[in-house]
Amino acid sequence: MIVADRKNVREIRAMIQNHQRVLLVGCGTCVTVCLAGGEREVGILGSALRMALRLAGRDQVIVDQVTIERQCEDAFIDALAPRVGEYDAICSLACGAGVQALAERFPNTPVYPGVNTQFIGILESQGVWTEKCAACGNCRLGQFVGICPITRCAKRQFNGPCGGSRDGRCEVSPELDCAWQLIYDRAKALNKLDELEAVVPPLDWSTGLDGGPRKVVREDQCIAGLGPNA
Ligand code: SF4
Ligand code: SF4
Repeated sequence: MIVADRKNVREIRAMIQNHQRVLLVGCGTCVTVCLAGGEREVGILGSALRMALRLAGRDQVIVDQVTIERQCEDAFIDALAPRVGEYDAICSLACGAGVQALAERFPNTPVYPGVNTQFIGILESQGVWTEKCAACGNCRLGQFVGICPITRCAKRQFNGPCGGSRDGRCEVSPELDCAWQLIYDRAKALNKLDELEAVVPPLDWSTGLDGGPRKVVREDQCIAGLGPNA
């Protein structure tokens, strides 16, 4: 899932305090699961924001809230569209994709981000999320026994560990596992150590963000006869 973290109330208040009517918009998908921007968080933020505005002498600013199922898909934004005209700004608690989807859909309404989008990751333990994928665009997990060195090795080493790995920990931080220790241990357990002997060439970053913003087109899923521009 996309993992995000809510911005602090002071920062959000500063972004919206010069508007008259602001709509907080939550999203029912990834940000709900990672407890950053779902219905509950939108409710908590709405109360905190009204209080912060009052304390800042801006209690004339009206803050309302709504949560839609998904902000990164135009069809779900339809549920929000009839209300947007009542407000002169939106604060979105979706990931960066959802914020931009609202900005595209409502070109005349300022849209502010209420969360900081962090990474693609998993729930590691209650209240702890960790990064697992950097969306490189050409998944190599098959080469690395299911552990991604692009994301999890601090130096993105492809051919074994650097000289800093100690007791299974990364030299960058004792809180980080050394990705290459994990790869080695798992390859050994799977009897695949010989597969790690092949030299892996440098990564072609053009499939990642370095090639510019990316696009996935599934012709077989497009509307027949109309293609990707329908
Ligand atoms: S190899 Fe690329 S797509 Fe696969 S997990 Fe790593 S960053 Fe993500
Ligand atoms: S200690 Fe391990 S994870 Fe850290 S940079 Fe070196 S090889 Fe990568």
